[in-house]
Amino acid sequence: MPIQVLPTHLVNQIAAGEVIERPASVVKELVENALDAGARRIEVHAEQGGVAAIVVRDDGGGIPADELLLSLAPHATSKIASLEDLEHVASLGFRGEALASIASVSRLTLTSRHTAASHGTRLAASAGEREAATPAPHPPGTSVEVRDLFFNVPARRKFVRTTSTEFSHIERMLIRLALSRPQVGFLLTHNGRRAFAVEGAETRAGEEARLAALLGPEFVAASLYVEHRSTEVSVHGWVGLPTYSRAQPDEQHVMVNGRAVRDRLLASAIRAGFRDVLFHGRHPAYVLYIDLDPARVDVNAHPQKLEVRFRDGRTVHDAVRRTVESVLAETRPNADRAGPIPVSAIAAGSMSAGRESYRQHSVFPRHADVGATLDWREIAALASTHAPTVADAPAADLGSANAAHAGDRDASIPPLGYALGQVHGVYILTETADGLALVDMHAAHERVLYEQIKAELEAGGPPRQGLLVPQIIEMTPASVDMALEQRSALEAMGIVIDRLGESSIAVREVPVAFGTRDLGGLVRDALAELAEEGATLRVATGRERLLATLACHAAVRAHRRLSLPEMNSLLRQMEVTDRADQCNHGRPTWVRLSMQDLDRLFLRGR
Ligand code: ADP
Ligand code: MG
Repeated sequence: MPIQVLPTHLVNQIAAGEVIERPASVVKELVENALDAGARRIEVHAEQGGVAAIVVRDDGGGIPADELLLSLAPHATSKIASLEDLEHVASLGFRGEALASIASVSRLTLTSRHTAASHGTRLAASAGEREAATPAPHPPGTSVEVRDLFFNVPARRKFVRTTSTEFSHIERMLIRLALSRPQVGFLLTHNGRRAFAVEGAETRAGEEARLAALLGPEFVAASLYVEHRSTEVSVHGWVGLPTYSRAQPDEQHVMVNGRAVRDRLLASAIRAGFRDVLFHGRHPAYVLYIDLDPARVDVNAHPQKLEVRFRDGRTVHDAVRRTVESVLAETRPNADRAGPIPVSAIAAGSMSAGRESYRQHSVFPRHADVGATLDWREIAALASTHAPTVADAPAADLGSANAAHAGDRDASIPPLGYALGQVHGVYILTETADGLALVDMHAAHERVLYEQIKAELEAGGPPRQGLLVPQIIEMTPASVDMALEQRSALEAMGIVIDRLGESSIAVREVPVAFGTRDLGGLVRDALAELAEEGATLRVATGRERLLATLACHAAVRAHRRLSLPEMNSLLRQMEVTDRADQCNHGRPTWVRLSMQDLDRLFLRGR
């Protein structure tokens, strides 16, 4: 075949493949145009998964009648005029190819009325062939109707999935767009039925109501608001509690200057912020807004503009990581929050149809040695069979129950209340100002020790105690050499060792915080971990992993009987320990049930 220049409509059809992958891409492009036009309300109506029709209406600035024809032309845009503009582009679109692409693979009707015009104008195109513009009634703003998507591109059409799959892509896309612009109202319908509707929000409470409508009430109940403002980069939004982690990374929303993106750098920064509170293999949930000077981000780095490039990635990374880290440090028992797990997930979820959504959003990572599902029946059983213990408790500890029922909380009672006893040697049952709490004593103690030693390490090394009788550990000669190579790093962590012989070492000192429990096992595991990690003790993550092993060994074991003062002392330590709401693996350390929750479980007052 001789070389020839392809006809324009074919060029457009080929180009369309880049931006218009499926019906949801049409929704994305049209809604982004509406947002760029300053719309306050956007309606999206889809039929048959968007393949039969997608209609997007907005109340934005509209298109002047004499520019209507041009808006469908390829590489025609009102958003940038020069390369310079491209360097600090603030609009979502700028390539001028969306409408041309969509028009070339569908039957498109564009009706628009510019703010300054007295009536609207309509323009239709089929497979890219434009018809003449005609006057048409229309309120200020724009409507775009896209019918029979890919009718002229059978190859593409074959890749379109079922109606429900395509619609769920549309819905997810519109949720992302709605999250990216909290001030704009959105409505979505499918085959005439409403999928969701949210109003624009101007306040944090309003935004949280939107989040509940878009992501589910569980997300709001189980997340913390974060905010960090600086001249270089501002970060704000909602971070899901570590105990609300998910099996898939499907609830992660990041907006950069009002644009929803999937960015590796940001995802890794957030992950770093979740370091040592997340169960292995679980994914955090979050909705985060990052704002910075548009000149410092390159948005022209991806055909669908899903990825961005930061001029100063390090600054952005650190700001995001630190913001997430600092809010997660606050996850300790506190009187204002309902605890690491939304009680609605336990109480309401188990009693009604909500159960399904509780399952879906389950906050309990599956793990063999944890009661993975805390069923309402078990809780009810606990509360009733232990009633005598409650009655036996010192009167001072019980004074609160009636007051709490009356609605006002006694401020002198600490957030985790006072211990009533142990449940099967695993949980501590406590009475709180407004109900009860159950604490996983091993998990909680593990976190308390971990944070304590970490703080001591940062302050120059944990205080050490000499052992009256050194612990002798037998190991292979290679392991002995390895252990001795790490000697100074171990010493910095409070563990002093010596070579005893070819295949044995002596442990002479250990951190005070670890008491004298199970020292042989503790050091052996620590050294085994070191052998596995090689020389990584020199980096923070290596030290933290080792610390976690040590803390796990030193923490109280299940089935150890604790006295009430010992239990209360653990509760008081939890209340002042950063991240105490979850153990080092991200499992919750405690749950709380208020009198209200209990009444609901027992159907009182119904
Ligand atoms: P881009 O958004 O990259 O500029 P598009 O092909 O999506 O390219 O749109 C072309 C032009 O049409 C836009 O630059 C804008 O001027 C105009 N336009 C498209 N949709 C709308 C709308 N909903 N409201 C106002 N103007 C619009
Ligand atoms: Mg556009």
